[in-house]
Amino acid sequence: MSEEIKTVETPAAEAAATKPERPARPFAKKRFESRRKVCKICAEKMDTIDYKNFQFVKSFTMESGKILSRRITGTCAKHQRQITKAIKRDRNLAILPYSLPKK
Ligand SMILES: [Zn+2]
Repeated sequence: MSEEIKTVETPAAEAAATKPERPARPFAKKRFESRRKVCKICAEKMDTIDYKNFQFVKSFTMESGKILSRRITGTCAKHQRQITKAIKRDRNLAILPYSLPKK
């Protein structure tokens, strides 16, 4: 009986001894790492935002029709102003909706 207990204890004791020597977790740091947002328009080097290019302009709106904030999309202040202007222009021309039902 005593022999059996000894054989069971030894692997556990070895594991306890190796525990502090465990290598650092590779994903531990990633949780706090923030990815820097880049302005889409600056990255593509577009001169002006065309309201007729509504598919591009639409990408800066929510499904409900709301304009996405700079905080979310990462656009710079200058281009956010141009986007809002284009969205509002498209809304007035009935290209983009003012609002849609939430469902
Ligand atoms: Zn920009």
